[in-house]
Amino acid sequence: MLRQPILLLARSQGVKKLVSTMPVSSSIVTSYVPGETTADAVAATSDLVDGGLRVTLDYLGEDTTDAAHADATVAAYKELLADLATKGLAPHAEVSVKLSAIGQFLPDNGHKVALENARDICRAARNAGTTVTLDMEDHTTTDSTLSILRELRKDFPETGAVLQAMLRRTEADCRALAYEGSRVRLCKGAYMEPEKVAFQDRIDVDRSYVRCLKVLLGGQGYPMIATHDPRMVQIASSLASRFGRRPGTYEFQMLYGIRPEEQKRLAAAGETVRVYIPYGTEWYGYLMRRLAEKPQNLGFFVRSLVSKK
Ligand SMILES: Cc1cc2nc3c(=O)[nH]c(=O)nc-3n(C[C@H](O)[C@H](O)[C@H](O)COP(=O)(O)OP(=O)(O)OC[C@H]3O[C@@H](n4cnc5c(N)ncnc54)[C@H](O)[C@@H]3O)c2cc1C
Repeated sequence: MLRQPILLLARSQGVKKLVSTMPVSSSIVTSYVPGETTADAVAATSDLVDGGLRVTLDYLGEDTTDAAHADATVAAYKELLADLATKGLAPHAEVSVKLSAIGQFLPDNGHKVALENARDICRAARNAGTTVTLDMEDHTTTDSTLSILRELRKDFPETGAVLQAMLRRTEADCRALAYEGSRVRLCKGAYMEPEKVAFQDRIDVDRSYVRCLKVLLGGQGYPMIATHDPRMVQIASSLASRFGRRPGTYEFQMLYGIRPEEQKRLAAAGETVRVYIPYGTEWYGYLMRRLAEKPQNLGFFVRSLVSKK
């Protein structure tokens, strides 16, 4: 019930200004974001990799309309990738990129700039010995993101895609992307979307998630099952055995700080588990989407804001 108001709040510049004065050290922020710097991100990666997990790293930021800001984001990814390679972490850690952080919304030639910037990051990832996955943002960006994915895959076929089960179009998109070598992360979808394009009831989103799982696990690609939902994890495991898939021909993914014990349990059972680590100073939008999913944390969040510790 609180999901939509929190997601609406996430768009308020006034609230953003107030909340963004909270230091990243505030405990509600650190429960989801391990730090602001490349060093913080690499340290968190190292800890998780030592524990038998894999990682995907997101340099936080989105919706930029400033070309210099987009360039700075590309530079941050390149610094990160070089560091992962130097520390021997690249075989276990890839990066997740939001196209709106690297120019997709620039007024004149956003699509083209985002494509070139993404190409630059893909090249750096390949040199480091790892891969890129393009995060998916709200439905107005889906066509542009999938078209950039198609372009990138001509040179970097290892580039991963994300599809959101809440969108009505997604089952068809899964069919189009379930081909050999195609890495596809399936998530429920974190954005507030209109009824015309998206299922509104949780039960309908869950049903769509299961239909999409069937397409992806029954297909030829490499499904990346991104959910904390115990039912979806269980259904995915049963479908994987039904389709004769062995662990390692698909993977589970969860967010940093969410159900860490389940992440370890799945890895100990022989599954590939990848943890999504967001880092950087621009944690506002990310934090608000997580609060929308777990409104029980709202009281805790408001208290942190009032005490500003
Ligand atoms: C690796 C990864 C990458 C993602 N990338 C994208 C992306 O590119 N674009 C996008 O739109 N969204 C993305 N998401 C977010 C996703 O769309 C969902 O918003 C988010 O994962 C919550 O959905 P859920 O499947 O976990 O289940 P929900 O429907 O939110 O929750 C179902 C159940 O899961 C368990 N659960 C959920 N959250 C918690 C928690 N905090 N603590 C304990 N139990 C919990 C509870 O049992 C809950 O009842 C990503 C998610 C992951 C894991």
